[in-house]
Amino acid sequence: MKKHIVIIGSGVAGLASAVRLGAAGYEVTVLEANNYVGGKLHGKKIGRYRFDLGPSVLTMPHLIEDLTAISQQNIKFDYIHLNKICNYLYEDGTFLCAYADKNKFATEVENKLGETKQSVLEQLKDSATAYELTSDLFMHQSLHKLSNFLNLKTLKALVNIRKLHLNKTMNEVNTKRFKNPKTVQLFNRFATYNGSNPFQAPALINIIAHLEHNMGAFAAKNGMHDITKHLYQLSLNLGVEFKLNTKVTKIKTDNDKVIGVSTSNGDLKADIVVSGSDIHHVYSKLLDPKYYPNKLLKQEKSLSGLIFYWGINKQFAELDLHNILFSKNGEEEFTTFFKHKTAYHDPTIYINITSKITPQDAPEGCENWFVMINVPHNESSKPVDYIDEMRKQIVAKINRLLKTDIEQYIEVEEILDPYLIEQRTSSFGGSLYGNSSNNKYAAFLRHANESSKIKNLYFCGGSVHPGGGIPLGLLSAKIVSEMIGSKNQ
Ligand SMILES: Cc1cc2nc3c(=O)[nH]c(=O)nc-3n(C[C@H](O)[C@H](O)[C@H](O)COP(=O)(O)OP(=O)(O)OC[C@H]3O[C@@H](n4cnc5c(N)ncnc54)[C@H](O)[C@@H]3O)c2cc1C
Repeated sequence: MKKHIVIIGSGVAGLASAVRLGAAGYEVTVLEANNYVGGKLHGKKIGRYRFDLGPSVLTMPHLIEDLTAISQQNIKFDYIHLNKICNYLYEDGTFLCAYADKNKFATEVENKLGETKQSVLEQLKDSATAYELTSDLFMHQSLHKLSNFLNLKTLKALVNIRKLHLNKTMNEVNTKRFKNPKTVQLFNRFATYNGSNPFQAPALINIIAHLEHNMGAFAAKNGMHDITKHLYQLSLNLGVEFKLNTKVTKIKTDNDKVIGVSTSNGDLKADIVVSGSDIHHVYSKLLDPKYYPNKLLKQEKSLSGLIFYWGINKQFAELDLHNILFSKNGEEEFTTFFKHKTAYHDPTIYINITSKITPQDAPEGCENWFVMINVPHNESSKPVDYIDEMRKQIVAKINRLLKTDIEQYIEVEEILDPYLIEQRTSSFGGSLYGNSSNNKYAAFLRHANESSKIKNLYFCGGSVHPGGGIPLGLLSAKIVSEMIGSKNQ
């Protein structure tokens, strides 16, 4: 008889698990607390504008294609390769474009920031080397099985360990390489891709630049929301059952073995449970307190975000799909987040405008602005109190750097903040990527993909190994499905 697998949550990792396990022939039911699928990777129409509400940066789209291939279906996830990765704007008026062409990018950094072209190319080469040495171990398999350390690739990483600068922070390595603090700020920025602090995160996190600059930056042709729509459709076609508006309230066990779940709509039996929910939520709300892994759950959390979705009834030719307006003081900004645990008065602002590549996302002559700043995760479990103040600062900074009066062009507005992110996805404090990577042991302190105490309980998603963000979420689903497959042949 087919084994019945219950997946908790329809975030990108839960959906990817549904595709893999559905394709492997299991009977799969996805239980989702919301009335929509996708978790953080969701979209919405506000007035005349369409918005992606969560992720906007797309790397490693082949991981989505892998799922299409596994499901043997003839439907396509449409994406394009970007020629321009990001525009960077600084307070002194410096404007720099990160071209996808490495030589062109290095020349732009040489011309605008006074670095040598060679130093930029070396930075990208080093991040590629670090990725090649470590990705198999840290991204593609469980870190919690000794056998995974006993292979040639791991040995190669150990032999080359010096190249990984394990005892240095990102900022230390980047400061040593580049003379202009603006270049350092640009490369330090990649720490925020997993919600970390470049002044604490190990230099290994520089590998994130490799994903964008060497492997490529991409954009979803029909918006990022198309990723979860695509995975949902693949799952449905594979016979996966979805129950929306169904909150799991307990994972039921007998003799330390999973037997099913209790939900807001009744109980369900299961042979296997895969949780795609935040690991904090699982241990504090769904499991008996005797299983609570104190040390793992005490790890520092990643950053959250404050996002303004603005329908702008004007077009800004100087902006592109991805734009960054840097803070004047990067170090103070990160110290404020991680030490003082509050928003920073002169934030780095990210503006994402999908209508630049998908014109139908905004009316003619208009643009859909997703305006985001990083803020710490919300420890208080009460609504945050800085939204109005930060909105003022953001408007003022945009006006200064773009020489405009943006307020007059805002036609519609909605806001997302750490409190709402937690309410909508159960992510602890609204953190975007689970734990931060602010120390060199962080990778080893993420929760494993399988419970060591409860048989047939597995975990995927941004709060467990290998980490947050779409690519790692998709890889967590792969690791989990392989684990289940190897035990249920
Ligand atoms: C504003 C923002 C910007 C981001 N930018 C990027 C980016 O540019 N690139 C990138 O790669 N990543 C980005 N991220 C991070 C990325 O969105 C996440 O890492 C990823 O989407 C997490 O997916 P997930 O599957 O782990 O879970 P989630 O998306 O958090 O989904 C979990 C799902 O489980 C459901 N659930 C939880 N508990 C229960 C329960 N008890 N019962 C039933 N259902 C439950 C929730 O309702 C939710 O639908 C961003 C996130 C946000 C919010």
